[in-house]
Amino acid sequence: MFSHKKRLFIFIMIILLSNTACQDKDSIQPDEVDQSNETTNKSDTTKASTKPTENELPDKTLQKGSQGEEVIALQNILNNIGYSITASGTYDKDTTWAVTDFQMQQEDLFVTGAYEEKTKRALEEVLADNIDITPGEDIPYTEKEEQTEDHSTITSNPYDMLVLVNKEHALPADFIPEDLVIPDVPFPFTEDLPKKMMRKPAAIAMEEMFQAAENEGLELFAQSGYRSYERQEALFTSYIERDGEEAANKYSAKPGESEHQSGLTMDVTSPAVEFLLNESFGDTEEGKWLEENCSTYGFIIRYPKGKENITKYQYEPWHIRYVGKIAAKEIMNNDITLEEYLATLKQ
Ligand SMILES: [Zn+2]
Repeated sequence: MFSHKKRLFIFIMIILLSNTACQDKDSIQPDEVDQSNETTNKSDTTKASTKPTENELPDKTLQKGSQGEEVIALQNILNNIGYSITASGTYDKDTTWAVTDFQMQQEDLFVTGAYEEKTKRALEEVLADNIDITPGEDIPYTEKEEQTEDHSTITSNPYDMLVLVNKEHALPADFIPEDLVIPDVPFPFTEDLPKKMMRKPAAIAMEEMFQAAENEGLELFAQSGYRSYERQEALFTSYIERDGEEAANKYSAKPGESEHQSGLTMDVTSPAVEFLLNESFGDTEEGKWLEENCSTYGFIIRYPKGKENITKYQYEPWHIRYVGKIAAKEIMNNDITLEEYLATLKQ
């Protein structure tokens, strides 16, 4: 790969040098020579690194942690439309931010921070039509993330589908996802409560998953999805009053630290456990099917058994979290948590 790049670099250098040589022969004025040298130098530095893939968007799905030439190509295109990120070849935090911010500014794109087919087409349109993008317009760029009073890091990109929300990583208090919808799945209640909602990419995936379960004669029900910061605040306070803070911390979250605020989570249950959210759901046909099949649709069991020391939560077979298919497969097939998965990524 490197030698190929090197060869290409030399090739470009030869062309550039031979161009300059030709111009010299035509005896142009000194100031013109200077100018041409300047432009030659400029295109020399930019083209040497971007030429192989310039304006050519990769076909492959790329996301946080991806690495290679395709990532460089994407990073160069993002820079071409106005972003200013390092073309490092690693799909890092800044690349995730740029893609998420871009997706937010487009109509009809799932906002996930991952680069896929539809995002590719949108980028192509923007390039073809010279559409103006204002970097950071929808998701302001943050160099250093802030902290809560309890020293949890506040994420600057809550729309990232791989966003980490736990007892050390919080969502901004004012974060209300703009793409909340009610998935077309069965609920054990009829009122239109906010907890029916999920962010669109997660809701669509959940509809597919519930349909697949139904096709196998299983009865999955959605119990509780999106929860606002304020609602979590009220809940957590009531749990502390009832059970004390230490106990409440094991099954609930401080406001900002609940995944339910992300809109990427749903608590799932079934008639077999009378629509309750308890450990025995994991032993039902529905619970077992969910654990085996959720990754196919981009979901994970977020708080698995035996990982309490990492997640800091008790086992919750009912709490599923959308992370997209690539990460979900990796996490579920290797019996790891989101925390462990993110730690393995080069970011
Ligand atoms: Zn939950």
